[in-house]
Amino acid sequence: MLEKLSSRVQNLKPSPTLAISAKAKQLRAQGIDVIGFGAGEPDFDTPLFIKEAAIKALMEGQTKYAPAAGIPPLREALAEKFSKENGIDYKPSEIVVSAGAKNLLFLIFLMLLNEGDEVLVPTPYWVSYTEQIKLFGGKPVEVPTEEEKGFSLSLEDIKPFVTDRTKVLILNSPNNPTGAVIEEKELKRIAEFCLDKGIFIISDECYEAFTYDGFKHISTASLDEEIKKITFTVNAFSKTYSMTGWRVGYVGCPNEEFAKVLTNLNSQSISNVTTFAQYGALEALKNPEARKFVEKMRTTFERRRDLILSKLMEIPDVKVNTPKGAFYVFPNFRNWVAKFNDDIEFAAYLLDEAKVAVVPGSAFGYEGFLRISYCNSDDEIIEGMERIKKAIERLS
Ligand code: PMP
Ligand code: GLU
Repeated sequence: MLEKLSSRVQNLKPSPTLAISAKAKQLRAQGIDVIGFGAGEPDFDTPLFIKEAAIKALMEGQTKYAPAAGIPPLREALAEKFSKENGIDYKPSEIVVSAGAKNLLFLIFLMLLNEGDEVLVPTPYWVSYTEQIKLFGGKPVEVPTEEEKGFSLSLEDIKPFVTDRTKVLILNSPNNPTGAVIEEKELKRIAEFCLDKGIFIISDECYEAFTYDGFKHISTASLDEEIKKITFTVNAFSKTYSMTGWRVGYVGCPNEEFAKVLTNLNSQSISNVTTFAQYGALEALKNPEARKFVEKMRTTFERRRDLILSKLMEIPDVKVNTPKGAFYVFPNFRNWVAKFNDDIEFAAYLLDEAKVAVVPGSAFGYEGFLRISYCNSDDEIIEGMERIKKAIERLS
């Protein structure tokens, strides 16, 4: 059967993060007491006023096709958001709304990549970048970042991997899975280098709302007008407003021409994002209560980060960096993984023995680590880390 498939999809792997959270949910449905640290989605409900706005739109008949680039009031509100919150001046015509940041990344790779074009992917990386790049004939080039430097990307990390086929660099700050952020000075050096070499930047800013210790998120395209002309600013409502299932993402493009191509790709594939969902997203931008909701989530995550770090430090022979953003920790379990064939086996052991679901580092291109999402209650965090500790003690 496989030989009948196109060569593009023959080696396509499913998203491991989605697979692990599905597995944890399935085990729970069978009555098994699994604590899931696999899912990368906030455990908050979408605010009521956002749901109500979508319901109102639905009841008022917003149930038909909408413009492929997104409903005009949403694109206008996004232009205002980019200007106020990110310091980037996009015209609404430079902004395209699509089915989540994931689909936008997919369309951007489709738009930019020819066979053999290279994309620099700072590693550890979010799972879908490499699979999507390969789907379009591109070559993901892993650029390792260093654990000792908190996984924060520097220009020196990138330089050795640049060739005459390098077309795109992905930036993801705050980072999934490490929670690392790129400091403004370094971000500028990296962006200026890309400008000089004619390399596009995809700046995935999905976790912009969640930064800690007073760190303020910096958008790549805000650095200067020339950098804006090579940068795609990708973002979504998914994490910021706890709307992962709504599937509303957006991108600010270097210019209108790129936005038009992405709009055409939408019109030939999904047509448009679910019309009434876009009205919910519009409410998230317009309702002042939304800012309070986001800040409540941010402070909750910051507190949980400190809690999970303190618990991880009690586990012997585990090293962990302090994440500056997102809602993941990425501890080094190499001492324990060494007792298994690989970290996939180790994660399976934790699921069997400790009934705790985590994602192995190899899913992010970084063997020997675990990604632990802290979108869980304090009690679950305490109990989950205790279970991991006990399962590990049984190994020594
Ligand atoms: N980028 C990163 C870094 C992510 O972690 C995710 C996962 N949510 C996405 C993009 C995709 O987001 P969305 O749910 O909006 O498709
Ligand atoms: N981005 C989230 C994660 O990393 C959701 C899963 C996915 O989209 O693959 O867990």
